[in-house]
Amino acid sequence: MTTSLVLPRGAVIGIFGGGQLGRMLSLAAARLGFKTHIFAPDEDCPASQFAWRHTKAEYEDMAAVKAFSKSVDVITYEFENIPTTTVIEASPGAPVLPPIEALHNGQDRLTEKTFISKTAGVPVAPFYPVNNEYDAKRALKMLGGKCVIKTRRLGYDGKGQVIASSEAEAMAGTKSLGNLPCIAEGFIPFKREVSIVCARNRHGDTAAYPLIENEHKNHILHKSVCPAAGDNGNARALAFKILEALDYVGVLAVEFFELEDGSLLVNEIAPRVHNSGHWTQDAGCTDQFELHIRAIAGWPLGDTQPKFRVEMTNLLGDDVDRIPELSADPAIKFHLYGKAEARNGRKMGHINRIIA
Ligand code: AMP
Repeated sequence: MTTSLVLPRGAVIGIFGGGQLGRMLSLAAARLGFKTHIFAPDEDCPASQFAWRHTKAEYEDMAAVKAFSKSVDVITYEFENIPTTTVIEASPGAPVLPPIEALHNGQDRLTEKTFISKTAGVPVAPFYPVNNEYDAKRALKMLGGKCVIKTRRLGYDGKGQVIASSEAEAMAGTKSLGNLPCIAEGFIPFKREVSIVCARNRHGDTAAYPLIENEHKNHILHKSVCPAAGDNGNARALAFKILEALDYVGVLAVEFFELEDGSLLVNEIAPRVHNSGHWTQDAGCTDQFELHIRAIAGWPLGDTQPKFRVEMTNLLGDDVDRIPELSADPAIKFHLYGKAEARNGRKMGHINRIIA
């Protein structure tokens, strides 16, 4: 482990994106004596409430992107759908971490799955590109009669995907996705969903939290618990292969399907801090937001061994109406995102509860 620091004291960390992840990254950066400068189009976004500066501009506003990049010491991002052209435009101004290749991979499910399986050598669900209804029909057959068709780009939390178990469903599903470029994946009868949140710093040191078990409701993460039962280290080893293959710097989340026999398939990766790592804030170790800041600042990575078992639950939409009742429980730690409007399904905050 190296101890030479890279970012000078008081340096400015630029963050593309103004959501809750940017907010929690800003809080962690401030604790380490750094300032954050948020680049996001919305006026009162969750991150800008805690950042040193906020450039309110569209991601396509290249003059604003250039000025932003010159005003910061390092650039990171808190969601993966920032246009790569924006990040490329910013990159001469300050180093971009995680590397642009990771962002580029994460924006297209076909590129991502090809990279993970072929370049990193880590297993994923079998998949085929689907560009029209006939491809979908053929893929369904190759995938054993049941598949999940997903748009290659801009899908998240189950949006842009359909399950098909007949030719008619495969064809209609592709049509319902707007005949956009898709992939079809084999339907995986998984035992459970697990993830690894890990990091690599600017010196190549790596660290990971123990295995996290995740429960989804309506395709959106509902609960995460860590440490999960039955952690044999395999998921961590696979996640580290991906970190190395990407020459990665920052926090990376890797989501897996665990099968009945214990084998693991990567579902997707996120080149950023991740909802399934929010429990780290109350586990008595370095939290994932500080871990990311440490990684991109070139600090040693800190402590990724939780001192408690913690369960995180998301508060979506009008779940926030339960805050008066929940706040009476002293065991619950609140992390609310400062969003005014509690739209249906919108991530408004999360709660952490120490369970052991
Ligand atoms: P994704 O947007 O790819 O993360 O998918 C959202 C959720 O849909 C996952 O967390 C799984 O619960 C389910 N899912 C996605 N792909 C598959 C698959 N190939 N087989 C079975 N379930 C899937």
